[in-house]
Amino acid sequence: MKRKPFIAGNWKMNNLVSGARRLASQIAQISGGIEEAALAVFPPFTALDQVKKAVADTRVMVGAQDIFWEDAGAFTGEISAAMVRDLGCSHVIIGHSERRQYARETDADVNKKIRAALRHGLSPIVCVGESLKEWERGESLSRVESQLEAGLHEIDAADMVSVIIAYEPIWAIGTGLTAEPDQAEKVHARIREWIEENYGAAAADCAIILYGGSVKPSNAAALFMESNIDGFLVGGASLDAESFIGIASEALRACKDKK
Ligand code: PEP
Repeated sequence: MKRKPFIAGNWKMNNLVSGARRLASQIAQISGGIEEAALAVFPPFTALDQVKKAVADTRVMVGAQDIFWEDAGAFTGEISAAMVRDLGCSHVIIGHSERRQYARETDADVNKKIRAALRHGLSPIVCVGESLKEWERGESLSRVESQLEAGLHEIDAADMVSVIIAYEPIWAIGTGLTAEPDQAEKVHARIREWIEENYGAAAADCAIILYGGSVKPSNAAALFMESNIDGFLVGGASLDAESFIGIASEALRACKDKK
Protein backbone atom coordinates (compact mmCIF):
# COMPACT_ATOMS: atom_id res chain seq x y z
CA MET A 1 0.00 0.00 0.00
CA LYS A 2 1.23 3.51 -0.82
CA ARG A 3 1.60 5.72 2.23
CA LYS A 4 3.17 9.15 2.18
CA PRO A 5 6.78 8.93 3.41
CA PHE A 6 7.39 9.79 7.05
CA ILE A 7 10.98 10.89 7.61
CA ALA A 8 12.17 11.38 11.19
CA GLY A 9 15.58 12.82 12.10
CA ASN A 10 17.08 11.69 15.40
CA TRP A 11 19.78 14.24 16.21
CA LYS A 12 20.87 12.27 19.29
CA MET A 13 23.28 14.15 21.62
CA ASN A 14 24.42 16.62 18.96
CA ASN A 15 24.15 20.38 18.52
CA LEU A 16 24.16 23.28 20.93
CA VAL A 17 21.11 25.52 20.74
CA SER A 18 22.60 27.80 18.05
CA GLY A 19 23.55 24.85 15.81
CA ALA A 20 20.19 23.17 16.32
CA ARG A 21 18.34 26.36 15.43
CA ARG A 22 20.46 26.72 12.27
CA LEU A 23 19.89 23.10 11.19
CA ALA A 24 16.14 23.35 11.84
CA SER A 25 15.89 26.57 9.80
CA GLN A 26 17.81 25.02 6.90
CA ILE A 27 15.54 21.96 6.93
CA ALA A 28 12.42 24.14 7.08
CA GLN A 29 13.71 26.27 4.22
CA ILE A 30 14.45 23.45 1.80
CA SER A 31 11.47 21.31 2.78
CA GLY A 32 9.18 23.48 0.65
CA GLY A 33 9.70 21.38 -2.47
CA ILE A 34 8.66 18.09 -0.92
CA GLU A 35 5.23 18.84 0.40
CA GLU A 36 4.00 15.25 0.24
CA ALA A 37 6.47 13.91 2.81
CA ALA A 38 5.90 14.17 6.57
CA LEU A 39 9.05 15.46 8.27
CA ALA A 40 9.88 15.39 11.97
CA VAL A 41 13.08 16.35 13.79
CA PHE A 42 14.16 15.15 17.24
CA PRO A 43 16.69 17.56 18.76
CA PRO A 44 18.12 17.21 22.27
CA PHE A 45 15.79 18.46 25.06
CA THR A 46 17.88 21.62 25.47
CA ALA A 47 17.10 22.78 21.93
CA LEU A 48 13.43 21.74 21.66
CA ASP A 49 12.03 25.17 22.40
CA GLN A 50 14.25 27.03 19.93
CA VAL A 51 13.86 24.40 17.22
CA LYS A 52 10.09 24.54 17.59
CA LYS A 53 10.28 28.31 17.09
CA ALA A 54 12.65 27.93 14.11
CA VAL A 55 10.16 25.70 12.27
CA ALA A 56 7.04 27.62 13.30
CA ASP A 57 4.52 27.95 10.46
CA THR A 58 6.21 25.19 8.42
CA ARG A 59 5.25 21.54 8.05
CA VAL A 60 8.27 20.33 10.01
CA MET A 61 7.17 18.57 13.19
CA VAL A 62 9.26 18.42 16.36
CA GLY A 63 9.61 15.56 18.80
CA ALA A 64 11.63 14.51 21.83
CA GLN A 65 14.17 11.68 21.95
CA ASP A 66 12.79 10.23 25.19
CA ILE A 67 10.45 10.92 28.12
CA PHE A 68 10.03 9.53 31.63
CA TRP A 69 6.92 7.49 32.43
CA GLU A 70 5.69 9.51 35.42
CA ASP A 71 3.85 12.81 34.93
CA ALA A 72 5.58 14.81 37.68
CA GLY A 73 7.34 14.42 41.03
CA ALA A 74 10.68 13.56 42.63
CA PHE A 75 12.47 12.11 39.60
CA THR A 76 15.66 14.14 39.39
CA GLY A 77 16.93 14.62 35.88
CA GLU A 78 13.87 13.24 34.14
CA ILE A 79 11.58 15.00 31.63
CA SER A 80 7.86 14.20 31.44
CA ALA A 81 5.54 13.81 28.46
CA ALA A 82 3.60 16.89 29.63
CA MET A 83 6.81 18.95 29.60
CA VAL A 84 7.69 18.17 26.00
CA ARG A 85 4.05 18.54 24.95
CA ASP A 86 4.15 21.96 26.59
CA LEU A 87 6.99 22.89 24.22
CA GLY A 88 4.89 21.93 21.22
CA CYS A 89 6.24 18.43 20.55
CA SER A 90 3.96 16.07 18.65
CA HIS A 91 6.12 12.92 18.74
CA VAL A 92 8.57 11.11 21.00
CA ILE A 93 11.08 8.35 20.28
CA ILE A 94 10.74 5.49 22.76
CA GLY A 95 12.98 2.50 23.35
CA HIS A 96 15.81 3.51 21.01
CA SER A 97 18.53 0.83 21.14
CA GLU A 98 21.00 3.38 22.54
CA ARG A 99 18.68 3.95 25.51
CA ARG A 100 18.18 0.22 25.89
CA GLN A 101 21.98 -0.14 25.91
CA TYR A 102 23.24 2.89 27.88
CA ALA A 103 20.27 3.54 30.17
CA ARG A 104 19.42 -0.16 30.57
CA GLU A 105 15.86 0.51 29.42
CA THR A 106 13.69 -2.63 29.44
CA ASP A 107 10.57 -3.54 27.47
CA ALA A 108 8.55 -2.87 30.65
CA ASP A 109 10.01 0.67 30.82
CA VAL A 110 9.19 1.11 27.14
CA ASN A 111 5.59 0.09 27.82
CA LYS A 112 5.26 2.65 30.66
CA LYS A 113 6.76 5.39 28.49
CA ILE A 114 4.41 4.61 25.59
CA ARG A 115 1.47 4.92 28.00
CA ALA A 116 2.77 8.27 29.28
CA ALA A 117 3.17 9.56 25.72
CA LEU A 118 -0.35 8.50 24.77
CA ARG A 119 -1.83 10.01 27.96
CA HIS A 120 -0.45 13.38 26.88
CA GLY A 121 -1.31 13.24 23.19
CA LEU A 122 2.21 12.48 21.95
CA SER A 123 2.66 10.02 19.12
CA PRO A 124 5.33 7.50 20.18
CA ILE A 125 7.88 6.14 17.69
CA VAL A 126 8.58 2.77 19.26
CA CYS A 127 11.98 1.32 18.31
CA VAL A 128 12.50 -2.42 17.98
CA GLY A 129 15.33 -4.42 16.46
CA GLU A 130 17.70 -7.31 16.94
CA SER A 131 21.40 -7.40 17.87
CA LEU A 132 24.10 -8.65 15.52
CA LYS A 133 24.20 -12.01 17.34
CA GLU A 134 20.42 -12.41 17.05
CA TRP A 135 20.62 -11.45 13.38
CA GLU A 136 23.34 -14.04 12.74
CA ARG A 137 21.29 -16.71 14.54
CA GLY A 138 18.23 -15.90 12.41
CA GLU A 139 16.31 -14.59 15.41
CA SER A 140 15.27 -11.18 14.04
CA LEU A 141 11.56 -11.93 13.80
CA SER A 142 11.25 -13.54 17.22
CA ARG A 143 13.23 -10.70 18.86
CA VAL A 144 11.09 -8.02 17.25
CA GLU A 145 7.91 -9.89 18.06
CA SER A 146 8.82 -10.18 21.74
CA GLN A 147 9.63 -6.44 21.88
CA LEU A 148 6.24 -5.66 20.32
CA GLU A 149 4.39 -8.00 22.69
CA ALA A 150 5.99 -6.52 25.80
CA GLY A 151 6.31 -2.89 24.67
CA LEU A 152 2.71 -2.64 23.47
CA HIS A 153 1.24 -4.77 26.26
CA GLU A 154 -2.37 -3.68 26.89
CA ILE A 155 -2.16 -0.69 24.55
CA ASP A 156 -5.65 -0.61 23.09
CA ALA A 157 -6.74 -0.24 19.47
CA ALA A 158 -7.91 3.36 19.89
CA ASP A 159 -4.40 4.34 21.02
CA MET A 160 -2.62 2.16 18.49
CA VAL A 161 -3.53 4.56 15.66
CA SER A 162 -1.09 7.07 17.19
CA VAL A 163 1.77 4.57 17.52
CA ILE A 164 4.55 4.46 14.92
CA ILE A 165 6.93 1.49 14.88
CA ALA A 166 10.58 1.85 13.85
CA TYR A 167 12.46 -1.32 12.94
CA GLU A 168 16.12 -0.62 13.59
CA PRO A 169 18.51 -3.57 13.43
CA ILE A 170 21.09 -2.63 16.07
CA TRP A 171 23.96 -3.78 13.89
CA ALA A 172 22.95 -1.22 11.24
CA ILE A 173 22.72 1.83 13.50
CA GLY A 174 25.58 4.26 12.97
CA THR A 175 27.72 1.53 11.40
CA GLY A 176 27.28 2.27 7.70
CA LEU A 177 25.78 -1.22 7.34
CA THR A 178 22.19 -1.35 6.09
CA ALA A 179 19.80 -4.27 5.91
CA GLU A 180 19.14 -5.25 2.29
CA PRO A 181 15.71 -3.95 1.25
CA ASP A 182 14.25 -7.46 1.02
CA GLN A 183 15.65 -8.39 4.45
CA ALA A 184 14.14 -5.26 6.02
CA GLU A 185 10.87 -5.86 4.17
CA LYS A 186 10.57 -9.33 5.68
CA VAL A 187 10.65 -7.87 9.19
CA HIS A 188 8.36 -4.96 8.28
CA ALA A 189 5.83 -7.36 6.76
CA ARG A 190 5.86 -9.42 9.98
CA ILE A 191 5.38 -6.26 12.06
CA ARG A 192 2.32 -5.33 9.99
CA GLU A 193 1.00 -8.88 10.26
CA TRP A 194 1.50 -8.73 14.05
CA ILE A 195 -0.48 -5.48 14.18
CA GLU A 196 -3.25 -7.12 12.15
CA GLU A 197 -3.36 -10.15 14.46
CA ASN A 198 -3.57 -7.94 17.53
CA TYR A 199 -5.46 -4.85 16.35
CA GLY A 200 -7.23 -5.81 13.12
CA ALA A 201 -6.80 -5.17 9.42
CA ALA A 202 -7.69 -1.46 9.48
CA ALA A 203 -5.05 -0.71 12.12
CA ALA A 204 -2.47 -2.71 10.16
CA ASP A 205 -3.34 -0.88 6.95
CA CYS A 206 -2.83 2.57 8.37
CA ALA A 207 0.15 1.73 10.62
CA ILE A 208 3.35 3.65 9.87
CA ILE A 209 6.40 1.36 10.03
CA LEU A 210 9.76 3.09 9.67
CA TYR A 211 13.15 1.58 8.92
CA GLY A 212 16.30 2.88 10.63
CA GLY A 213 19.96 2.00 10.26
CA SER A 214 22.46 3.99 8.19
CA VAL A 215 19.81 5.38 5.82
CA LYS A 216 21.15 7.97 3.38
CA PRO A 217 19.96 9.49 0.10
CA SER A 218 21.75 6.76 -1.90
CA ASN A 219 19.89 3.83 -0.29
CA ALA A 220 16.55 5.47 0.59
CA ALA A 221 14.72 4.82 -2.70
CA ALA A 222 15.48 1.08 -2.82
CA LEU A 223 14.32 0.66 0.78
CA PHE A 224 11.21 2.79 0.33
CA MET A 225 10.17 0.77 -2.75
CA GLU A 226 9.41 -2.15 -0.43
CA SER A 227 5.70 -2.27 0.23
CA ASN A 228 5.86 -2.28 4.04
CA ILE A 229 8.53 0.41 4.50
CA ASP A 230 6.69 3.69 5.08
CA GLY A 231 9.60 5.96 5.90
CA PHE A 232 12.77 6.24 7.91
CA LEU A 233 14.19 7.03 11.32
CA VAL A 234 17.48 8.66 10.38
CA GLY A 235 20.42 9.31 12.71
CA GLY A 236 23.73 10.50 11.22
CA ALA A 237 22.33 11.69 7.90
CA SER A 238 19.71 13.84 9.64
CA LEU A 239 22.43 16.18 10.94
CA ASP A 240 22.86 17.63 7.48
CA ALA A 241 19.82 19.42 6.01
CA GLU A 242 20.66 18.47 2.41
CA SER A 243 21.02 14.78 3.14
CA PHE A 244 17.94 14.69 5.41
CA ILE A 245 15.80 16.33 2.73
CA GLY A 246 17.59 14.21 0.10
CA ILE A 247 16.30 11.08 1.85
CA ALA A 248 12.76 12.47 1.80
CA SER A 249 13.05 13.37 -1.92
CA GLU A 250 14.34 9.89 -2.78
CA ALA A 251 11.47 8.29 -0.85
CA LEU A 252 8.97 10.48 -2.70
CA ARG A 253 10.55 9.55 -6.03
CA ALA A 254 10.28 5.85 -5.14
CA CYS A 255 6.69 6.36 -3.95
CA LYS A 256 5.53 6.87 -7.53
CA ASP A 257 6.68 3.38 -8.59
CA LYS A 258 5.76 1.64 -5.35
CA LYS A 259 3.45 -1.35 -5.45
C1 PEP B 1 19.13 6.01 14.70
O1 PEP B 1 19.74 6.64 15.53
O2 PEP B 1 17.96 5.71 14.94
C2 PEP B 1 19.79 5.62 13.45
C3 PEP B 1 19.15 4.85 12.63
O3 PEP B 1 21.07 6.10 13.25
P1 PEP B 1 21.91 6.04 11.87
O4 PEP B 1 21.00 6.53 10.78
O5 PEP B 1 23.08 6.93 12.09
O6 PEP B 1 22.29 4.61 11.65
